[in-house]
Amino acid sequence: MSNITVCARFRPLSSKEERIDDSSVCIRRIDTETFVFKDEKEEDFTFSFDRVFYEKSEQADVYEFLALPIVRDAVNAINGTIITYGQTGAGKTYSMEGPGILVCDETKKGLLPRVVVGLFDTLNRSDGEDIKYSIKLSMVEIYMEKVRDLFNLSNDNIQIKESKTQGIILPGVAEKTVQNPAEALQSLSRGIANRAVGETQMNMASSRSHCVYIFTILQEYTKHKRSKSGKVILVDLAGSEKVEKTGAEGRVLEEAKSINKSLSSLGNVINALTCGLPGKANHIPYRDSKLTRILQDALGGNSRTALLCCCSPSSLNASETLSTLRFGARAKHVKTFPRFDCNEEKCAKDSCASLPLVDESCSRIL
Ligand code: ADP
Ligand code: MG
Repeated sequence: MSNITVCARFRPLSSKEERIDDSSVCIRRIDTETFVFKDEKEEDFTFSFDRVFYEKSEQADVYEFLALPIVRDAVNAINGTIITYGQTGAGKTYSMEGPGILVCDETKKGLLPRVVVGLFDTLNRSDGEDIKYSIKLSMVEIYMEKVRDLFNLSNDNIQIKESKTQGIILPGVAEKTVQNPAEALQSLSRGIANRAVGETQMNMASSRSHCVYIFTILQEYTKHKRSKSGKVILVDLAGSEKVEKTGAEGRVLEEAKSINKSLSSLGNVINALTCGLPGKANHIPYRDSKLTRILQDALGGNSRTALLCCCSPSSLNASETLSTLRFGARAKHVKTFPRFDCNEEKCAKDSCASLPLVDESCSRIL
């Protein structure tokens, strides 16, 4: 992986969170990269990311910082991946789509519609006499380790293959060639509507599956008979919340295991790409889950990755938020450390300055 950008985003308090008396906001802003998080035991942790988007951040800010560099590089045949991670209700889909994929309010549009416009803009600018481009779009959903085509719901067990020339491919998946942003948005909205139909058929919640949007950009030099292609993949992950092992049974438990496995393997692949897994220098465990296998050539090799860790700012969700922030911190090699207020007893034992940093960057997520 040549580059990973890790950001955290805190959505505004929900009305429910606001109503509950003993809830409070569990983060304190330091600056655009750093904040202090208070966990359930009132212990403070300082986290730093490439950028932190607080409650009042705009969708456009998130796009410009996180996605625009990926869009610009995609036309240079550098693959890119944009991932939203976090517990259900933390703002993944809002960040990805906005309140709706075809919403008219420009300011609320999410990453997907902005990526679409950005790709066409960048390509139109570089489109010359001897270079022609096309964009193809596929949408799949991964549920319980099965890949389903969101443009063709009956195609519900797509195999993932690797081709020497094209990299990772999904044989048989529908690919819509889109000529302009409006066509792309229409296709995306159809895929999203199909996803809802599939969920009703299967009695499943969208928060329990990963939604993967794949843009393939092909540029052909008409005079020289050469071509180059790049992929931009956006992933709205399944909710990362822990399911109580004791209460859950049957399908709920199976779903939870499957989500846990794929999110763990995503963490492991990112860690292996950034620092290697202990004792396994060159092994990148892409094959451990369908999710990482689909993302193989968009995460590894010549690629850019952006991870948006979506969080609730409420103390009611502190435990899930801490686990989301830790996932992001590991991905970035960020060191997290408990911060004690200068309290005589603790300072006497191990002074604030000499507190050991806990480097979690290379630890496996199990
Ligand atoms: P997730 O996809 O992580 O389950 P959603 O994106 O559906 O969560 O967000 C949950 C709720 O919070 C939705 O009602 C959404 O509109 C709202 N929300 C999330 N992020 C924001 C934000 N940045 N600004 C305003 N509302 C938000
Ligand atoms: Mg969602």
